[in-house]
Amino acid sequence: MSKPDILSMTLEECREFVLSLGEKKFRADQLYGWMQKGTPLTEMKNLPGAFRDRLAAECDYRLPEIAKKQVSQKDGTVKYLMRMTDGECVESVFMRYEHGNTVCVSCQAGCRMGCRFCASTLRGKARDLTAGEILGQIAVIQRDTGERVGGIVMMGIGEPLDNYDNTVRFLRLISSPDGLNIGLRHISVSTCGLIPGIKKLSEEGLPVTLSISLHAADNERRSSLMPVNNKYPIAELMTACREYFEKTGRRVSFEYTLISGENDSEKDARALADLLKKGIKGPSHINLIMLNKVDETGFAAPDRKGAERFRDLLCDMGMNATIRRRLGSDIDASCGQLRLKNSEN
Ligand code: SAH
Repeated sequence: MSKPDILSMTLEECREFVLSLGEKKFRADQLYGWMQKGTPLTEMKNLPGAFRDRLAAECDYRLPEIAKKQVSQKDGTVKYLMRMTDGECVESVFMRYEHGNTVCVSCQAGCRMGCRFCASTLRGKARDLTAGEILGQIAVIQRDTGERVGGIVMMGIGEPLDNYDNTVRFLRLISSPDGLNIGLRHISVSTCGLIPGIKKLSEEGLPVTLSISLHAADNERRSSLMPVNNKYPIAELMTACREYFEKTGRRVSFEYTLISGENDSEKDARALADLLKKGIKGPSHINLIMLNKVDETGFAAPDRKGAERFRDLLCDMGMNATIRRRLGSDIDASCGQLRLKNSEN
């Protein structure tokens, strides 16, 4: 039988577990507080040694460990390679914005979605992360930086809606007043477009921002870049997004990675504006991303001028579009590349 995964527990569950060990409830509250701060068992100073030994023997405390850290000299962005307790590594990024600190977390070790421009999927998926392992990335980063994290983007390695239950549990834990209490309105869940997951998420009563990785406005092009489009094509995806907005009142956001010669022509911009105007019928936002070059894929980004032209075309057609600021450009801060390099060593 597997040992209880205590970092994935709610405070109530943790109390029940600690009581079942014959300890007092206040010990659970102490333990829970330490876990939310990313503290290893050996450093939980106000817990009796015997209790800590018991926890070490009877629980699976899956606190990630910082395996590697790169700090951008340009903007203070910090990229972490986080080692899980079984040795699997994922990436997390700490970013400073004027409105506060945001962390980009991973939700799977690897990915099985197969997007052709993405480094995270090159070796497939090793396993899902538990809710606690996703939360642990944030706890460890707050401890390491000594700074409060106010926002989260689930845009690291993995597909959140392909790890649905752990993602939803994570969202409830991280936003709980018993835990780190990060507002759901400051959390983005990014998906390549798994429609059943989008539908389910709209029923959870979680006011997160849904972010769709679109990257192309016609099925032929999108399927060639993202195999998932063969299963969940664009028209159905647009319907799911519209329903998501109607049900939650939350504006859906679209990510569009610009890839030279693939999806960055004037015609592509027109098709994109057209698609969203007809498909969404509500407010939306387009986040243009400059492709981060992954050597294995052979794709390249357009130049800055080309990207600005693309954005201006969209804005001229009445769309709300911005080019994402590139933080940490000197440290390879797009996800998937560190895990990949690490696994090659
Ligand atoms: N699986 C989720 C979240 C992880 S990827 C999703 O697909 O949305 C986060 C974003 O980065 C996605 O929009 C993804 O398509 C994009 N992305 C992946 N590889 C990239 C690269 N090399 N350059 C720029 N963006 C990339």
